[in-house]
Amino acid sequence: MRETCCRAQVECEAGRFESRLLEHATSLYFKGDESRMNSIQKFFAAVLPASWARSMEASSRNWMMRCPCGFEKSVWDAGGIRWKASGTPRRYLLCEGCGEATWHTVYKKNPDA
Ligand SMILES: [Zn+2]
Repeated sequence: MRETCCRAQVECEAGRFESRLLEHATSLYFKGDESRMNSIQKFFAAVLPASWARSMEASSRNWMMRCPCGFEKSVWDAGGIRWKASGTPRRYLLCEGCGEATWHTVYKKNPDA
């Protein structure tokens, strides 16, 4: 099950988010570094107002996932999105550092951001 455990999840305030998404969906445009974004990230970047898309990316970059071996990577760099979420959950992921599937601690790099 290596493929599925690598995939980070999209977390947001789903209900509120959906209704707002529809309101804004017709007038949105986002210019970013699309070559480094995966399809989930591109989808949200395309349907969100640019300011939200930037907020989403900044938040996702600020959330780090750390393996017990010490290797860490941001949620965004792992191809995921973590936005308007709180808490410090754990994710079972394949670590690029040690090559093992381990429980990664998810934490905010900058707690004030
Ligand atoms: Zn590791």
